[in-house]
Amino acid sequence: MLDARLWIDALLRVHSSLQVRLASENIMESAKDLLSPDSGSVMLYDRKRRWLFVAAALNLPKDVVKKATARLGERVAGKVAAFRSPRLLVGSVERYPEFKGVEGRGKIRVSLCVPLVSDATVLGVLNLNRHNDSPHMNYTEEDLHAAALFAAHATLALKNAWLADTLLKQNRMLKEVDAARADVISGLVHDMRGALGAIRSYADNLIAGVFGDLTPQQKEKIEKMREQVERLAGLLEEVRTSGRRELRRKLTSVRRVVQRAMEATEYLFDENEFVVENRVPGGLEAYMDVGRMEQALVNILSNAAKYSGGGATVTIDARKEQDFIEITVSDTGPGIPQDKLEKIFEEHYRLDEHSDIPGSGLGLAIARRTIEAHGGRIWAESPPEGGSVFHIRIPVR
Ligand code: ADP
Repeated sequence: MLDARLWIDALLRVHSSLQVRLASENIMESAKDLLSPDSGSVMLYDRKRRWLFVAAALNLPKDVVKKATARLGERVAGKVAAFRSPRLLVGSVERYPEFKGVEGRGKIRVSLCVPLVSDATVLGVLNLNRHNDSPHMNYTEEDLHAAALFAAHATLALKNAWLADTLLKQNRMLKEVDAARADVISGLVHDMRGALGAIRSYADNLIAGVFGDLTPQQKEKIEKMREQVERLAGLLEEVRTSGRRELRRKLTSVRRVVQRAMEATEYLFDENEFVVENRVPGGLEAYMDVGRMEQALVNILSNAAKYSGGGATVTIDARKEQDFIEITVSDTGPGIPQDKLEKIFEEHYRLDEHSDIPGSGLGLAIARRTIEAHGGRIWAESPPEGGSVFHIRIPVR
């Protein structure tokens, strides 16, 4: 008969750890309480080495535990793992034709050997033995059923522990990759900052007339260049912190932010006779991180300039809808294939047809990160009448 209390305690213990080694030890302990073996082991299948090894043992000498590995089909454990069905073995194993060739087991009088199988995958084997001098009687079919029921729980606990272990390992790996990437980026940012510093000081000297007088037009152009240097320096800082810095939000006019993004991209549009229209109504306001939002819009506007081809029209509009502001940036360019409308927001993704236009595939990924940090959403559409439309939806507060 199953003792309910004993079972509840045993199962609680089995499910109490998310570490494979601890879970194996708990399985061994609980099996001892439930089925009173004199010795036993929890063997796990090592997929890389392709053998079973002892992960937890009861009354087995340490050197035996260390050496006791078995390939599938080898020895009792390996055969049971290969058969995938629980076995009750009374007396010598040689009596059983399917265990032919398996060496004798010395003082063992009877054993239960139960595979730990999940979705047809062998995780391991639970071995429980009673010895010749055991005070207990031989195991019975009823014990075998109890062991199989227990094994089902043990399997579940192991699988959970294994999943948790895998997640932890992957997490650690991702952190390492992230750290390596951060190192490369900070090196690059450092070098680029140096170069920008040099450009900045040449520009300042030119403006100050150190290299001779400039015409008003030359001076204006160099001042514009100087502004772009500042913008680049800001962008570098953004890359360095990988958009992780806290947002600094304040109530800001949407039209004003759009205007600033347009000024920053003016030089791209000027050269190719684009028509750029800011149709955003004056009264719209939202809580935004001005610098980050401006950068997101700059990325979208510079794409419109890069991919639409000269002479295109770019229109920026916005409206309030309940507690949200929706900004749209439309261009009359070639549009984006329907099946790529989401992919273009992934890091480093670029459309094949644009491979000869310079770009990193990061602009839209950065824009998305910014908009999502604002609690908003960004998406693209490519309407049948042509062109691309980028929608930005952010909460007003
Ligand atoms: P980048 O411009 O540096 O390549 P983005 O992340 O800004 O990177 O854009 C990803 C890709 O999406 C671009 O390479 C381009 O193929 C496509 N794309 C973005 N904006 C437009 C647009 N307005 N019209 C057509 N294609 C676009």
